[in-house]
Amino acid sequence: MNKDTICALATANGIGALGIIRLSGDEAVSIAQKSFKGKNLEKQKSHTVHYGYIVDGEEVIDEIMVSVFLAPKTFTTENVVEISFHGSLFIGKRILEVLIKNGARMAKAGEFTMRAFMNGRIDLSQAEAIADMIASENEASRKVAINQLKGGITNEISILRTDLLNFVSLIELELDFAEEDVEFADRTALIGLLKRIEEKLRSLIESFQYGNAVKNGVAVAILGKPNAGKSTLLNALLKEERAIVSNIAGTTRDTIEELLHIKGNTFRLIDTAGLRETTDEIEKIGVKKAIEKVEQAEILIYLIDSATTDFREDMLMIKPLLREDLKLIICATKIDEVIPAQHEKMEALLRQEIAKEFDFIKISALENQNLQDLKNELSSYVEELKTEENNVVITNQRHFQALQKSLESVQKVEDAVHIKISTELLAYELRNALEYLG
Ligand code: GDP
Repeated sequence: MNKDTICALATANGIGALGIIRLSGDEAVSIAQKSFKGKNLEKQKSHTVHYGYIVDGEEVIDEIMVSVFLAPKTFTTENVVEISFHGSLFIGKRILEVLIKNGARMAKAGEFTMRAFMNGRIDLSQAEAIADMIASENEASRKVAINQLKGGITNEISILRTDLLNFVSLIELELDFAEEDVEFADRTALIGLLKRIEEKLRSLIESFQYGNAVKNGVAVAILGKPNAGKSTLLNALLKEERAIVSNIAGTTRDTIEELLHIKGNTFRLIDTAGLRETTDEIEKIGVKKAIEKVEQAEILIYLIDSATTDFREDMLMIKPLLREDLKLIICATKIDEVIPAQHEKMEALLRQEIAKEFDFIKISALENQNLQDLKNELSSYVEELKTEENNVVITNQRHFQALQKSLESVQKVEDAVHIKISTELLAYELRNALEYLG
C-alpha cells in the first residue's frame, strides 16, 4: 500500500467563501503541524477543530480552521487533516505548495476514495455511490446514491450469499460422505432459498430501468410537422424551469440536450438544437433522421396543430417511429385558437389509425393551458418504473450485468437440483453462483 501522505483541494475549483484542502496519510498531522501556527496539532484528540494560521516559514499565508481526524475512524482509515481556508484559488494553491514543501504530495484524481476502498472502509459499490452522490443533480438520484452509499445493495446481496454459503458447506460435507449416500442439505429448503434469491435478484434487475432513469434522466423527443408548435412548447416547458435548465454539449452523447426537471426527476429533451431556430424541422431532418432521434428516446411527444383535418402526413411520420418500449404522448396544440369539438374527432381518428396506447393531451403552449397535464404524464412515466419493494435501486451498468449473471447461475443450480444432478456437479454450480453473487 502506498504510504505517501497525499493532499488536494476537496472543494470545487473556483471561488467561494471557504475552500477545503484535505490531507491523508501517516504524516498528515505532522505535515499540517509543520505548516501551521497555533496549537500543537500532534497533541490534539481525533475529530477536533482548531484555529490558527498556515505559514510558509515566517510568512503567514491565511487564517484558517484545521480539523484533525486520527486513524482509523476516518474516510480513508488513515490520519486525515482538513484545512478550511478563505476560498480563493490562489490561496488554495499557496497552501498546497506549503504542504508539498513539508512532505505531502498531490493526490491523483480519486485517490482519497481509492484509499478508502483499498483500506476496506468502503466497498466498490459504495465507491461508485460516492461518484454518483457528487454527480447527482436531482432529488431522486441523490436518494438512490445515498442508499447505495449506506451499503444498500451490498447488504441485501450479502445476506442472501451467506444463506447460500451455508448450503454449499452442507453439500460439500455430503461429498466427504459420498459412500454413505446421505443428504445433509435439505433439497426442498435449498429450492426455497434459491427461489427467494431469484426473486430478490429479479427485483434488483427490474429496478435498473428506474435507476437508469434517475441517474441519466429520461430521454424525450419532441416531433411534429412544421408550425405544429414544437419550439413554442419547448420554450414554455423550459421557461418555467429556467433556474435549473442547463445545456449539455455532448461528451458521451453527440447531440445537444436540454434538461427539464419535474418533481425531482430529470428529462433530457434530445436534439432540440434545431427546434429553436427553424420552423421546418421535419423537412429538415427527414423521416430517417426522425427515426434515429426517436430511437434514443423513451418518450415521444408528437404535436399536431388542432386545426389539422388531414392526418395522412402525421401518420406517415408516427408509424415508423412506434416501438413496444416507447411511450407516446400526442398533443393537440393551440387550443386557445381552436374549438374543442374538433378534438374528439381527432382523437378517434388517431386511435383508429395508430392502434397503440397513447396519451392524448390538448394544450396551448402560448397560453400555458394543460401544460401541467403534460408534465404530470412525464413524471408518472418515471413513477411507474418505481416498484414498491425497490428501496434499493440499481443504477450501474456493471451491477446490472453482474446481477443478470447471478440470476442465470442461480437458475442453473435450481435446474441442477430438479434433475437430481450428482452432488459434485451441484457443488460446482453452487460455487459458480456464489462467485457471481460475490
Ligand atoms: P414549430 O415549427 O413546430 O417549432 O412551431 P412554432 O413553435 O414555431 O409555432 C408556429 C406558430 O404557431 C408560431 O407563430 C407560434 O406563435 C404559433 N403557436 C405555437 N403554439 C401556439 C399556441 O399554443 N397557441 C397559439 N395561438 N399559437 C401558437
